[in-house]
Amino acid sequence: MEKGGFLNEEQIKTAEAVGSISYKMLELARSKIKEGARLLDVANEIEKYAKDSGYELAFPVNMSINEYAAHYTPTAFDDKVFGKNDVVKVDLGAKKDGVLGDCAITIDLSGENQKLVDASKEALDNAISKVKAGVKISEIGRIVDETIRSKGFVPIKNLGGHGVGLHDLHAEPFIPNYDNGDDTELEEGMVIALEPFATNGKGYVVNSDIFEIYGYIEDAPTRDQNARKMLAEVKSRYEHEPFAVRWLSGLFDSRFSLYSAARELMRVGAIEAYPALVESGKGMVAQTEAEMLVEKDGCRVLTK
Ligand code: MN
Ligand code: MN
Repeated sequence: MEKGGFLNEEQIKTAEAVGSISYKMLELARSKIKEGARLLDVANEIEKYAKDSGYELAFPVNMSINEYAAHYTPTAFDDKVFGKNDVVKVDLGAKKDGVLGDCAITIDLSGENQKLVDASKEALDNAISKVKAGVKISEIGRIVDETIRSKGFVPIKNLGGHGVGLHDLHAEPFIPNYDNGDDTELEEGMVIALEPFATNGKGYVVNSDIFEIYGYIEDAPTRDQNARKMLAEVKSRYEHEPFAVRWLSGLFDSRFSLYSAARELMRVGAIEAYPALVESGKGMVAQTEAEMLVEKDGCRVLTK
C-alpha cells in the first residue's frame, strides 16, 4: 500500500472537480432516497449522473441500510425498496484520470435516528477542524471517538479514514475512529478521506455473506467461457477500481450466467469480493465521510 495523495497541481484541480461532482451525486441521492423507491433505480440514476457529467466511478454507489455499515450495492435484479424506518448510508465517488472521489452521508428516513446521524456528522466536522500538517492520526481518532461517545454512541473501530492516491482508494495512512496510539503525522499535500461511523451496537463490523462488489486481482485460467468473457471485460474496464457485478449484466443473457461467472472468477482467484459489512451487535449505523487536501495550516475539503 502506498502513501496517499501528493497530487500535482493539475491533479489537485481534477480532485476538486471530482469532489464537486461526488458531492452533487450525494445531493441527488438525498433527493431520490424515499420510502418505496427501488435501490437499483436510485443507484443507476446516481451512476448515470456521473457518467453524463463526463466522469467515471471510483467504485459502485454503496447504499448500506441499518445494521449494514458498508459495501452494500444493489444486484443486477435487486427488487429491494427503501423502508420507512431505514437508516441509509450512501457512500460514493466519481473518478477522472485516476483521481478518486470518496464521500458519504446518512439519510434517516424515519427521523428517529437523527442523534445517531448527527454523532457521525459532528465527529467528522470536529475532525476536519483539526486537520493540518503535523497532526498525529491518533489525535484525529481521539476527537472522533470523544465526539461520538459524548452523544451516547460508540465509534466503529475497524473502519476508518485513509489516504486517497491515484487509482488507490485505500492508501496509507489508515486513520482510525479512535485513539490507536499511532504517531504517524498528516503531511502537507496529502489527500485523505475521514469517515466516522457511529453505532448503538458493539463498535465493530464483520463480513456478511452478501457479495456484489469485487476487485480485479490477476488473470487466472478457467475453462468457463462466461468467466473468461467476464474477466476480459473486468480487466479492460475495472483493472484498478472496484466494480459491481450488475455493471456486467449486459454481457450475459441470464442472472445465472452472470453470477456463476463471478463465482467462478472468485474461485480461481482472478477477483476478490468486498462483502457487505454488518455491525457485529446488529446495531444501527451512521456514517459521514469527506475527502480533503491536507495543508500547512488546515485543510481544503474537496467533496463539497
Ligand atoms: Mn467511502
Ligand atoms: Mn473512504
